[in-house]
Amino acid sequence: MAPLDYSKEGNSMNIAMIGTGYVGLMTGACLADIGHRVICVDINANKIRSLRNGLINIYEPGLEPLVKRNKQAGRLTFTTDLTAAVQQATVVFIAVETPRDEDGSADICHVMDAVMNISAAITDYTVIINKSTVPVGTVARIRSAVSDSTTKPFSVVSNPEFLKQGDAIKDFMQPDRIVVGVDDDRAADYMRELYAPITTAQWPSGRPLRQKSWGTNPLLLEMDCASAELCKYAANAMLATRISFMNEIAHVCDCVGADVDQVRRAMGADRRIGPEFLRPGLGYGGSCFSKDVAALMSFSAAKGYHLRILRAVERVNDRQKKFLFRQIFNHFEGTLHGRTIAIWGLAFKPNTDDVREAPSIALIERLLTAGACVRVYDPQAAGNAESVLGPRDGVTYSATAFSALSGADALALVTEWDEFRTPDVTRMQDAMKTPVIFDGRNLYDAQRMRNQGMVYYSIGRQ
Ligand code: NAD
Repeated sequence: MAPLDYSKEGNSMNIAMIGTGYVGLMTGACLADIGHRVICVDINANKIRSLRNGLINIYEPGLEPLVKRNKQAGRLTFTTDLTAAVQQATVVFIAVETPRDEDGSADICHVMDAVMNISAAITDYTVIINKSTVPVGTVARIRSAVSDSTTKPFSVVSNPEFLKQGDAIKDFMQPDRIVVGVDDDRAADYMRELYAPITTAQWPSGRPLRQKSWGTNPLLLEMDCASAELCKYAANAMLATRISFMNEIAHVCDCVGADVDQVRRAMGADRRIGPEFLRPGLGYGGSCFSKDVAALMSFSAAKGYHLRILRAVERVNDRQKKFLFRQIFNHFEGTLHGRTIAIWGLAFKPNTDDVREAPSIALIERLLTAGACVRVYDPQAAGNAESVLGPRDGVTYSATAFSALSGADALALVTEWDEFRTPDVTRMQDAMKTPVIFDGRNLYDAQRMRNQGMVYYSIGRQ
């Protein structure tokens, strides 16, 4: 993607990004690309050393050249020295992890640690922007913690992140919306200025990306902090609900002899519903949906409201993650000992190397427990899968999709990477011991596969 011409709009700001993980690095690099000067901070010294040496430890399309060009331009730097970074900045983002605690609630200790360090370091007016996904009320807690520990002027803003892994640069540069929870005018002005290159920029073609109208910018949704904090959870919970709903409909299709592809096409054509997130699959994974659904239920329950719908969404998802294993188990009539199952795809979705909560990991664990061996292939995520699974007998990491098929009793397709879309079926059959596919993403045309001699299973299209 060509860089925006930021010179026309907005004033360049000095920014400190606290937390240089997935969100911090992406956001920091994108903010640098629209002209701001960004210092990315992390407590992980190895990560910072690697980034300084040009090594990026996450896979995201376009991220490497983005980081490189902004480093070279001197707009993007990396440090472990939070105090120095905050002292140079007017705007300080918090983008640290908020993992799921044992009881399902969001653990905000990393956020509060960062807040204490920030408040000790500020020397002048500072806008502290929280980007981590946090329970409602956290921004108020941050505000009170900072005012308890400094007399310097500051504002606290909620600015939840909506980027999708695999499409993150586009999501930042051409967002559906930017949510800003803000309680004072001074901070609101900073936020408008910060994002002005995106909300009002012209693309090089001269076509306005988004234009200002009605005096305020329709892309920048300003609201109170509690609403801003909640809308991130509500959006993820809605998407998780759609996924679980469609997985339920797919099972109904199997029961009644309908085809879920036809059903979802008709549903998606309804403008009130829309076509996105209507594909059945192996359940949602990734670092966010599961933990955010659990956290939303947890902090709502703490206030006396129990989200029964989300309890059902979770249960459906847990069951769906076991679905492919059940199909495989039933096909082999309960005897998996000594079988070899090839697995295409380990990442929780295409175009990322992230395997957090990935259905592949749950499937591999079950297959190994049942006595099978697996030969796995993923274009990007094998290294991360190996770290999660640890050294294991029975797991072979293959260099190519076809080498994973060698001698396999069946193929399980788990992640819909583009390179799996048009396979050479004859070559597959030559490599496999028996020509059986369990398609967990409904990627292939069922009839065509069967006509070519494959035993083919999918979801909701029997
Ligand atoms: P991450 O685990 O990839 O990165 C967090 C980073 O923060 C780590 O590098 C960690 O070392 C660093 N860190 C922790 N405490 C620190 C401190 N006190 N000072 C400096 N650095 C510190 O997490 P992530 O995926 O980037 O997620 C960050 C937040 O954004 C979470 O709340 C998450 O829910 C939310 N979010 C994530 C995504 C996504 O797709 N990953 C999307 C939207 C929102």
